[in-house]
Amino acid sequence: MKSLEKLFRYGLGPSSSHTIAPSIAARSFKKLIKGDIDKVVVTFYGSLGLTGHGHGSDLAVIDALYPYKTEVVFDTKTDAPHPLYLSFEAMKGGVSLIKRHYASLGGGEITSEDDPSVIEKDIYPYHNLNEIKAKINDEHLSGIKEFCLLYEDPSIDDYLSNALKMMFSSLEHGLTVDSYIPANDNPRLHWKRCAKSIYENAFTIKDEGAKREMLLSAYAYAVVESSSSREHVVTSPTCGSSGVLPSVLYYCYHDLGMPFEKVKDALYTAGIFGNIVKQNASIAGAIGGCQAEIGTASSMAAAALAELNGLSLYQIEYASECAMEHFLGLSCDPVDGYVIIPCIERNGMGALRAYDSYLYAKFIAPIRHNQVSFDDVVAAMKLTGDSLASAYKETAEGGLAEILKEKKTK
Ligand code: SF4
Repeated sequence: MKSLEKLFRYGLGPSSSHTIAPSIAARSFKKLIKGDIDKVVVTFYGSLGLTGHGHGSDLAVIDALYPYKTEVVFDTKTDAPHPLYLSFEAMKGGVSLIKRHYASLGGGEITSEDDPSVIEKDIYPYHNLNEIKAKINDEHLSGIKEFCLLYEDPSIDDYLSNALKMMFSSLEHGLTVDSYIPANDNPRLHWKRCAKSIYENAFTIKDEGAKREMLLSAYAYAVVESSSSREHVVTSPTCGSSGVLPSVLYYCYHDLGMPFEKVKDALYTAGIFGNIVKQNASIAGAIGGCQAEIGTASSMAAAALAELNGLSLYQIEYASECAMEHFLGLSCDPVDGYVIIPCIERNGMGALRAYDSYLYAKFIAPIRHNQVSFDDVVAAMKLTGDSLASAYKETAEGGLAEILKEKKTK
């Protein structure tokens, strides 16, 4: 498993697999260019070809390759060796001078068969939660944070503090704006940012449970509406699902008054659960469907809530497993290829499901022993994701994307 730094990245929305990863690939390719060229041809395949325009992949590579002239091709026909595949080719006088191929893995990670400089190294010698729990028990470690500090660089604590500050700053910014999310004047996607209104309305609600749910929703919307507006956010674990974890952490910090340091430490726990999914299944909607994005985000948030509320490691695992289990099979069907519908609302739901899963871990886990381990649910998620048709994996060809395509706009 890789460092938690690779799970919590700061970058441009709306989609880490479609914006952050192509931008990293573009910057790496740019370093390989020697001398004068006419242009760089960037070709997007698979999900990147089908939804790259709505997801802003073209803008990400044009920006990263500047000042070189960039020609973008969305190839929706050619069968590529990976669902998130792209190539870069430097051209001069009609001749190809250099060409490289990359595959985006989710959450901004990239790999390449012919540019190994982009490949990130594993630092954890463990692969799943059972191995990690055995290590914690055998060595009498105090918990997941102490486990992480055995392998991470000491700078990780400052890194996570900054990541949490950036999460909170994009959330607080999101609560102040009510502009439209840019979507090329697509009438189906006229989305006026509404986190601010949800937040203000929450204070008129008398029922405490309903008020909490609307606050969590406002916080999740605030972050992901920023991501969908192509602003900077922290992947947690992706841009498309970037509202879920910050929502529950901000609620604990801002509304429950938990200290910043304690809330920051919950990022170790959330990060390890996200890392296990990334290692054994996927965190990319184009590879595993939305269960891989919102399911993982909710699972990470549930683990963080359980940790913050002092539950045992068994209960933390229960919370995280529960959140993932009930998102199994969730398809990725972004309408017209934009990260707006169903993505924004889905972040709110991810935060609520995380809170419910924490409550189950607190009140039901002591009554009935959970038969499904976290490693089991991750294996089930991978199996389910592998069986999902490509129409439900960030191609905008199935589900809501298909139904709403036929519907007349008002
Ligand atoms: S439906 Fe889910 S996985 Fe797909 S783009 Fe939206 S948030 Fe990401």
